[in-house]
Amino acid sequence: MLTQDLQVFNKDLNKHVEIKNVKIGNGGFALIAGPCAIESFDQLYASLFHAKKNGANILRAGAYKLRTSPYTFKGLEGEGLKMLIEISKELEMPVVTEIPGPDLLDQFEDVDIIQIGARNMQNIPLLEAAAKTQKPILLKRGFASTIEELLLSAEYLLKNGNSNIILCERGIRTFETSTRNTLDLSGVPLIKSLTNLPIIVDPSHGTGLSELVIPMSKAAIASGCDGLMVEIHPTPEKALSDSRQALSFDEFSSLYSSIKEYLKLENKIL
Ligand code: PEP
Ligand code: MN
Repeated sequence: MLTQDLQVFNKDLNKHVEIKNVKIGNGGFALIAGPCAIESFDQLYASLFHAKKNGANILRAGAYKLRTSPYTFKGLEGEGLKMLIEISKELEMPVVTEIPGPDLLDQFEDVDIIQIGARNMQNIPLLEAAAKTQKPILLKRGFASTIEELLLSAEYLLKNGNSNIILCERGIRTFETSTRNTLDLSGVPLIKSLTNLPIIVDPSHGTGLSELVIPMSKAAIASGCDGLMVEIHPTPEKALSDSRQALSFDEFSSLYSSIKEYLKLENKIL
């Protein structure tokens, strides 16, 4: 592990990020939920409304989808982003969504938290430009990145004047193929021992299987994380992206009820 004198290791760094009265870190817990991709106004509205009514304190949805294949659904892009901003304002909820590159930053002015996804964790011009907005940044671990590399990417944000950083463990690629990724929960207490920055866990991308999302959410809370980000869909089997990992509305409601006691044990407030 790094021994250098980095800002990310500074124990005077703020221990939490606060956005519209939601505190992430230092006892505050984020439950972020919404669809993988925005597919239509109705699908988005139904998902975000359900997320809000069933315990989520931050909403998510992808407008620009950085898909592995150029022939799969790439999201509704700018149109989707407008819907997301409109609905989050109507529901009076903070929202996080992924930015594909620095050229689109001006479209993200009304987005509360800018997500830098796994595929972009080491996109240095994007890290530098996003940091300068002073908006909170959700920085996801690359699927082939070490913890050290994740912290060095956070260091780029800090060096560019932004300490509103939320790290995210979302699984890494290993020899195991039964799950989409291997959710590296041991990274959570390790990261907590190294930095004050809050860290959340994404068990949806981390496993790729909806039936594993609730058990791994409980495990993530036990590992000491400051939040969860999960994908939901009104009809998971019909989702245009990441269908196999999406929770149905009923499953999301039961996720919320099943994590309540775990949060109490860890003294986290949702
Ligand atoms: C997402 O959260 O929408 C996403 C694409 O995740 P990741 O960057 O972790 O693959
Ligand atoms: Mn997804």
